[in-house]
Amino acid sequence: MSFEGVDGAGKTTQVERLATFWRARGREVVVTREPGGTPLGAEIRHMLLHGDEPVAARTEALLFAADRAQHVAETIRPALDRGAIVITDRYLDSSLAYQAGGRELTAGEIRELSMWATGGLLPERTYLLDIDPAAAHARLTHAEDRIESAGDAFQRRTRRAFLDLAEREPERFLVVDAALPADDIARTICEDSVHLVG
Ligand code: C5P
Ligand code: MG
Repeated sequence: MSFEGVDGAGKTTQVERLATFWRARGREVVVTREPGGTPLGAEIRHMLLHGDEPVAARTEALLFAADRAQHVAETIRPALDRGAIVITDRYLDSSLAYQAGGRELTAGEIRELSMWATGGLLPERTYLLDIDPAAAHARLTHAEDRIESAGDAFQRRTRRAFLDLAEREPERFLVVDAALPADDIARTICEDSVHLVG
């Protein structure tokens, strides 16, 4: 399962809530994130978000894809193979929304790149925490990274791109109103996941 949404939508909180729910039911849960879900990925994350050098659009797409390839090979695949529930804070839809929705590359290019990087692995369910980016941004407590500071119009395009993705794949996505109280959101998501995991 993956969680998606603009920065400040509350993904990290909801990832933890869902993990707690399944651990209480005796399941092994692997909680992970992108970018930076592996040691190599942490280095890529640093380059992407905190480097001083300019990053060209294609370079950025490749670095996110490289992070994802390592993430699948080192963390996600092995966990799925031993029967664990994997919950990732961002996955390929973030690349489709940010690298294609927000910038100059096409969704087709990014999708192909990502499917190659992951060997075609898609989440069974993607929870999209949808919220007005300005409201979400106001909740951020950490210093802005390079992409978070890209501006309001970029964040609004990203939100729109996420919603378009959800519309295209209604069987994979569940869109949740992230302005609701965290408890309500967690209940909706946990109940949905029961049908999925069984
Ligand atoms: O979710 P998190 O804050 O860890 O993501 C790091 C940053 O990378 C965010 O600012 C997010 O907007 C950006 N990002 C991106 N493309 C991705 C994944 C994340 O631009 N594929
Ligand atoms: Mg962030």
